[in-house]
Amino acid sequence: MKKILLTGGAGYIGAHTAVELIQKGFDVVLIDDFSKSDNSLLDGIEKITGKKINFVEGDCKDSTFLDQLFRKEKFDSVIHFAAYKSVNESVREPLMYYNNNLRSMTELLQVMGKYNVNEFIFSSSCTVYGQPDVIPVDETAPFKKAESPYGATKQMCERLLEDVAAANKNLKAISLRYFNPVGAHPSALIGELPIGVPNNLVPYVTQTAIGLREKLVIFGNNYQTPDGSCIRDFIHVVDLAQAHVKSIEKINEMPSNNEAFNLGTGEGVTVLSLVKKFIEVTNVNLNYEIGPRRTGDIEKVYANPTKAKDLLGWQTRLSLEESLRDAWRWEQKLANKPI
Ligand code: UDP
Repeated sequence: MKKILLTGGAGYIGAHTAVELIQKGFDVVLIDDFSKSDNSLLDGIEKITGKKINFVEGDCKDSTFLDQLFRKEKFDSVIHFAAYKSVNESVREPLMYYNNNLRSMTELLQVMGKYNVNEFIFSSSCTVYGQPDVIPVDETAPFKKAESPYGATKQMCERLLEDVAAANKNLKAISLRYFNPVGAHPSALIGELPIGVPNNLVPYVTQTAIGLREKLVIFGNNYQTPDGSCIRDFIHVVDLAQAHVKSIEKINEMPSNNEAFNLGTGEGVTVLSLVKKFIEVTNVNLNYEIGPRRTGDIEKVYANPTKAKDLLGWQTRLSLEESLRDAWRWEQKLANKPI
């Protein structure tokens, strides 16, 4: 079985992926610098899998740390989750975002080259497309000018990977373009831990429902969509995690040594209908109102996930109802309320 390094392994998507890989019998090493996370999800991973995890605290911009780690462990593959991901923060602190997200990428690829580790999976985002001309969007769509420094780092990392893969044919690279990951593990032992006031819709919804926030504001109801609110493709984080397992399994069967895949359900859902669905699924009285548009928001985007189905043999299985139910169970667990 392959030995796999997960950078950012203590984060939301890293932790869910660790669970799926461990349950499939892969040998997994997690690293995290805890700059945007803490060790609470690590306990959850151990509880779900019943296995002691191999975790090392460290920063993947730190070449000495990486060198020691790669010398000790004989990795087959790297899944690179570690990155800053707040759109708002990236607008306020662009240098911090470029420095962190680009440097961790170059340092990792460098150490991989030195130790002849050739399989690399990168956490990308549908933000690379901007507002696509054709929806559902497929992987051939051009990158529009990024709406934020965060989005620009994802575009730049994909470009960087393209260049490195062109120069080194031994490298096998896959970029996974996440649409909107939501939900939590059905055990409610791991889930999302937003820092401060959440920017993302579903954590804001669950925090409002539990009473941590006064009300949810829906940003705009005059878009060109059926109910006027924005359209997104909300994907259950467990489905998303399983796509990483498939990528690890299939990485040597790809048509080229650098491929990108959309990870979405293929269904566009309006913000307002998600909110209504949450109320229906949970029976919770959610205080919400319509407010002005949020600057930089894309009107509508959802995936054409056909390529992932054809080449990775992956598709989503979990519904929006399950995502919202699991997100709510996790929020209740955090608040120590009975679920
Ligand atoms: N959204 C909202 N209220 C909030 C947070 C988000 O109406 O408090 C909307 C936002 O305008 C967007 C959608 O929910 O249309 C998804 O936003 P999120 O930030 O979760 O993801 P992204 O915009 O990056 O797709």
